[in-house]
Amino acid sequence: MDTQHVEGDLDLDQTLFTEDQIRARLAELARDIERDYEGRDLLLVGVLKGAVMVMADLARSLDRHVEMDWMAVSSYGSGTSSSGVVRILKDLDTDISGRDVLIVEDIIDTGLTLSWLVANLKSRGPASVEIATLLRKPDALRMEVDVTYVGFDIPNAFVVGYGLDYAERYRNMRSIGTLAPHVYS
Ligand code: 5GP
Ligand code: MG
Ligand code: MG
Repeated sequence: MDTQHVEGDLDLDQTLFTEDQIRARLAELARDIERDYEGRDLLLVGVLKGAVMVMADLARSLDRHVEMDWMAVSSYGSGTSSSGVVRILKDLDTDISGRDVLIVEDIIDTGLTLSWLVANLKSRGPASVEIATLLRKPDALRMEVDVTYVGFDIPNAFVVGYGLDYAERYRNMRSIGTLAPHVYS
């Protein structure tokens, strides 16, 4: 059976990472996280909506108990370039003062959203705030926020699938691929 049947496949240029590659890499990150947080409580904070798949698979790869909470912040809207305007659409349910917080992200592009988010969470007095992201683009290397766990560094192209959308579509694809330019240009 074709596990990858999604309406509009012709909109995709190229598969960057298959479901198996993503799962394998997240398992490696999970081992690092287990080691680094041994003996400490851990709160995973997923950034909606893009990080839903990463959160689900990373959390289930962890051989330990964690708590999970979610934030929604505005970033791109439905376009393909960062506005730099960040707004909280849904805040945490958890009081994070004194907590070890690991932000779980799908992708870091300019890093604008994330550096804002880190500053915001740090102002609430947590014990620590670290970042795990499945994907990182070249521009993110210039940002001042350290990213502790990175799945894959990717070229500067617009990607979709595995939680990542274009105009709210393609999030449910199991793999990650580049979107054909004709779709958005
Ligand atoms: P940043 O603030 O780092 O530039 O962008 C953060 C957010 O923009 C990501 O969490 C994601 O929602 C969106 N984004 C950045 N690059 C891409 C991309 O290549 N594809 C998709 N679908 N979203 C992206
Ligand atoms: Mg995101
Ligand atoms: Mg989006």
